[in-house]
Amino acid sequence: MVSRAPQAVSDPLTCEIAVVGGGPVGLTLALALARDGADVVLIDAEIGDAEAGGAGQGARSDARAYFIAHGCWRIWTRLGVGEPLLAHAQAVRSLTADGEAVEGAAFDDLALGGEPLGWMIEHAPLMSVLRAAVGAQTGIRSVAPAVVDAMQAAPGAARLTTDRGEVRAGLVAACDGGRSSLRESAGIAFEGRDYPALALSLFAKLDRPMEGVARQLFLPTGPIAVLPLPGDRANIVWTMRTPAAHALSAMSTGDLAAELRSRAGDFIGGFKLEPRRGVFPLKLRLAGRYHAPRLALVGDSAHLVHPLAGQGLNLGLKDAAALADVVRAATRRGLDPGSETALEGYTRARRADGVAVAAAMDAFARVFTAPSLVRALGGLALGATRWTPGLMDWFVREAGGAAGDAPALMRPIEADAPDVAAS
Ligand SMILES: Cc1cc2nc3c(=O)[nH]c(=O)nc-3n(C[C@H](O)[C@H](O)[C@H](O)COP(=O)(O)OP(=O)(O)OC[C@H]3O[C@@H](n4cnc5c(N)ncnc54)[C@H](O)[C@@H]3O)c2cc1C
Repeated sequence: MVSRAPQAVSDPLTCEIAVVGGGPVGLTLALALARDGADVVLIDAEIGDAEAGGAGQGARSDARAYFIAHGCWRIWTRLGVGEPLLAHAQAVRSLTADGEAVEGAAFDDLALGGEPLGWMIEHAPLMSVLRAAVGAQTGIRSVAPAVVDAMQAAPGAARLTTDRGEVRAGLVAACDGGRSSLRESAGIAFEGRDYPALALSLFAKLDRPMEGVARQLFLPTGPIAVLPLPGDRANIVWTMRTPAAHALSAMSTGDLAAELRSRAGDFIGGFKLEPRRGVFPLKLRLAGRYHAPRLALVGDSAHLVHPLAGQGLNLGLKDAAALADVVRAATRRGLDPGSETALEGYTRARRADGVAVAAAMDAFARVFTAPSLVRALGGLALGATRWTPGLMDWFVREAGGAAGDAPALMRPIEADAPDVAAS
């Protein structure tokens, strides 16, 4: 059932698991849970309508493209959406920093077996494919648009109050993004800092193919990432200090393209800038815990990290896969997936990774968003290629699922136990 009209749900709607938030993480989690046989209600504040082009989150989110590491992409492959997503994705096979190839030990160790490091995909086609899959999946009832106002945890079930009526669930997965009202209402601290910089996300048609190379240019004013997209297009993520970013984002497309050319020299080559753009504040935040009674935080509701190495959604996908493991294991043993014991297991499985990624991104962001004088005084102006191999080694291992115990949905397909392969 997809409820589109803003009328009350049959009151109260009951289910095993309520997924609140139909962003990329919530949609992935709903699919994973339902394919394991759970009875899921998916609630989103906006109409998630694949037929309407998948642009439910408005222009700002739409001006984003994501690097998804191969280990995280495997989650989508296992959920049956890998193929339709690949039709919109560009394989990323190598990285350069300031024009020099980045070669880290992890690249050699990873045994990618010819697989790319990961893929780039734009927000709109990603959402469109995920929404279509959710719409076709039995076991998911979608309620949208509906805003969750409050949650009360009680023995046996949680009660969600929405502007469409009440929903009761044994477990609530908060996939409601960085400003999660569920996290707030559970009193979970979300601490960190705001970076004095913004990311300007732009799209361009290039004169020459990028051939799957993701390129970073480290300027004293902040990095410019040029990330390959299908059809000789690129997503350009230009990070700079806040006042300069505001000034640039107010420019016409022509003036902005001229400014980009003058700053980046011939690094990008010939390009035609598209009018679409987004400006994103950069924040570091981490939830003190990933669960509360009958509540699990998943995706940006649990962590916000600097997008320097494209890790936020990768982390969220790993959260979703880990929560699916926890629910599957509890259900198989006849236990309550919303119990404290089960949810403690989820926090244990995921929070350390969130801390590690947030800390690594923060360390690099401090270097690359520091004023140039501070960088020079600190001996940091050594050349980006001296810094990036460590970062790339780390993130290739981490996001590739090579670190720690990977959730079942991330494991290499050939390593399947028969029951996992069937899921
Ligand atoms: C410039 C930029 C580039 C990035 N690049 C990358 C990258 O290359 N790779 C990467 O891994 N990550 C990247 N990220 C991070 C990535 O964008 C986020 O981590 C990801 O979008 C988080 O998805 P989510 O589903 O957790 O949250 P969101 O996408 O924020 O979704 C939250 C959903 O919850 C709904 N919602 C909110 N409140 C309520 C409520 N009360 N009731 C009902 N519904 C509600 C909203 O409508 C929305 O649909 C980038 C970020 C930026 C800013």
